[in-house]
Amino acid sequence: MIHLEFSSPEEEIIHPLFIEKNIRLFIKRDDTIHPFISGNKWRKLKYALLKAEQTHKSHLVTFGGVWSNHLLATSCAAAKFGFKSTGIVRGEPLNTETLSLCRLFGMNLIFTNRESYRDKPGLFKRYFEDDSDAVFIDEGGYSPEAAKGCAELVDELQQTYQHVFCACGTGATAAGIINGLTNKNSQTLFHAVPVLKGDFLKHEIDKLLHSPVDFEYHRDYHFGGYAKTRPELIDFLKKLVSHTGILLDPVYTAKMMYAIFDLAKKDYFPTGSKILAIHTGGLLGLLGMKDKF
Ligand SMILES: *Cc1c(COP(=O)(O)O)cnc(C)c1O
Repeated sequence: MIHLEFSSPEEEIIHPLFIEKNIRLFIKRDDTIHPFISGNKWRKLKYALLKAEQTHKSHLVTFGGVWSNHLLATSCAAAKFGFKSTGIVRGEPLNTETLSLCRLFGMNLIFTNRESYRDKPGLFKRYFEDDSDAVFIDEGGYSPEAAKGCAELVDELQQTYQHVFCACGTGATAAGIINGLTNKNSQTLFHAVPVLKGDFLKHEIDKLLHSPVDFEYHRDYHFGGYAKTRPELIDFLKKLVSHTGILLDPVYTAKMMYAIFDLAKKDYFPTGSKILAIHTGGLLGLLGMKDKF
């Protein structure tokens, strides 16, 4: 039985900036869903796992970098729900805390160079063509099933917000939340904060939408690109974590929070606005930059 019971609370962040601007910021603590199947990763895996179970596939094959929260979540979920798992890892063999935990959860790791990593269906075919138990799960879990799982977040919300913010890597979580809002005829404006450079993510989000919807796409908060950072982001993260007791990571959630604070400073939000930030979890990414703290 594939079932993980949880409810993730919405907590208010009290901060002088929001008092001054007369707006309120809440954070949905999806980081509390599970220590390793954390944040959006459980929502993204749920329907992929159910589909695998229904089609009698017992071996999850997926892809990621050496700090991938998705690999870790998949390895733990596989162990918990009785699947075998393989992670195809981008780059040279390297030991990170994330990969050690993946191994501990029983994931078989295959390292591959950046060149061949680009062709994921090709890699799947190369290694698992003859394995009828194997099922392909894309990098970061990106799929319509992932978006479906993330749409359920909207049903849990305990109040109405004018703005919802989420950090985006593949865009599946963003698309799911937008679909969830659309289903409810919600007036809430969705804000995507891409953590990668470029506009392609907008297209990746659009591809998974059930109907075309306008949303905000904030191009200016990637801090140099994926897993890149700048001293002002690290300073901001340290101050906010020590102020709130809520851990953030520099790869995703700190960039989203920086965007919210920056927009608030620039008086983007009308007085009285209620804003929700989605804490998408994934805190192990911190350890990839532990020398900075
Ligand atoms: C994986 C991850 C994301 C990105 O989610 P997508 O659905 O790929 O956009 C955001 N935040 C955290 C903490 C993550 O681990």
